[in-house]
Amino acid sequence: MLLTNPTVVNDIMTRYGFRFTKSLGQNFLIDSNMVKSLSDLSGADSDTAIFEVGPGIGTLTESLASRCGEIACVEIDRKLIPILNETLSRFDNIRIINDDILKTDIHDICDLFTCKRTIACANLPYYITTPTITVLLKSDRFDSVTVVIQKEAGDRLCAKPGSPDYNAFVVFINTYAEFTQSFKLPAACFMPKPNVDSVAIRFDVYKNPLVPPEKREFYFRVVRAAFTQRRKTLVNTLSTSLDTPLSKAELTQAVVECGFDEFIRGEVLEVADFYALSEKILEFCK
Ligand code: SAM
Repeated sequence: MLLTNPTVVNDIMTRYGFRFTKSLGQNFLIDSNMVKSLSDLSGADSDTAIFEVGPGIGTLTESLASRCGEIACVEIDRKLIPILNETLSRFDNIRIINDDILKTDIHDICDLFTCKRTIACANLPYYITTPTITVLLKSDRFDSVTVVIQKEAGDRLCAKPGSPDYNAFVVFINTYAEFTQSFKLPAACFMPKPNVDSVAIRFDVYKNPLVPPEKREFYFRVVRAAFTQRRKTLVNTLSTSLDTPLSKAELTQAVVECGFDEFIRGEVLEVADFYALSEKILEFCK
């Protein structure tokens, strides 16, 4: 079925009495070249299991299912489930789960995969871009995560230390994965047409992350605290926002022992800096 053809989409919508729900970020892909490019970017092959968020009417799912070993997709809108059962009926390697990606158990779903490697891929609903990327990366289940997000959101992820857009989420992303903005998807690639362009991004999850999983909890507390009051010095924001038994003088000493100026601001630190600092603070707490 040519799901990228607007006439086919309209026909399906009429037959099922389906209407787009704007608040669910329902902008379906109608550009077959972009669907192919996205599947290519994901790197899926017959040894790959794919976790897809928000299959919609199955446009991207169809392309992915034809090249991967197995695919599970989580769709919140129950009105799309009978449509997916029809549009994807010729495949026997698809599981459709009617759930909210922010509430579902990613591990339960991935535990049933039998392929060698698992990746995630999605044309994301724009209203939950950040929390969805967060749960996908945090799950530690995927070798890579390929997503379409709004171009502006993609640009913000590339923010460098010290720039206004650099924030705790950018540090979070850089802690888990290396990523590249791949290609732009003009608004005309979607139905209904959104107001802004989008971009495809692939996150390649670090196999040997600089911050090991068992160290992340305290490390991210330090990162979040450092960005709580951006205008303050790192020492000042840590002394008010990070819950430790350390005095301001001890925090200053920890910052200086990491090789930073005592008046440095948290917003200029990178992953390695935050890791060194969190380890140093822990040392001081002993
Ligand atoms: N993958 C389809 C495509 O590319 O044409 C649809 C992408 S559309 C941008 C986003 C999809 O995510 C919609 O089908 C929407 O219903 C679904 N969605 C929205 N919020 C969701 C949530 N919290 N959990 C799971 N799916 C969700």
